[in-house]
Amino acid sequence: MDHAGLVQDLKDMGAALILMENQVGAPALLNDYMLHKRINITPILDAGNALLKFSESRTYLAKLGLRGEIIPTPGHGADHVTLILDDGSAFTGDLSPRSLVMEEQTEMLEAWNQIHAHKVTRIYPSHGPQHQSLPYNG
Ligand SMILES: [Zn+2]
Repeated sequence: MDHAGLVQDLKDMGAALILMENQVGAPALLNDYMLHKRINITPILDAGNALLKFSESRTYLAKLGLRGEIIPTPGHGADHVTLILDDGSAFTGDLSPRSLVMEEQTEMLEAWNQIHAHKVTRIYPSHGPQHQSLPYNG
């Protein structure tokens, strides 16, 4: 939610909002949350959003000139996803850094296992600097 406040404003300037199959209800939840918290954002409208299945992400990205895919990486939130490019870059959003994930956080551990299964070499989180991918072998 801390990265979505400008989404509708960006859409109004011509950007597309891609909603993955696990994110369909997210804009309405965000709009309600911001209204409840009296945080002033432009509500995200359904019009113009691209709805995408994970299995279609590689084809969709190829049309944008990107080689890679989008995978579900729940843990921080059920609707969390990671963009993985074939050059070894992973854009992990708000997923907790692997080094901070506790043993009992099994969903997040599995998300990191999925990311590392794609031979990722560089992690680009939404908070903090880019860093090398360091698979945890404990
Ligand atoms: Zn964040």
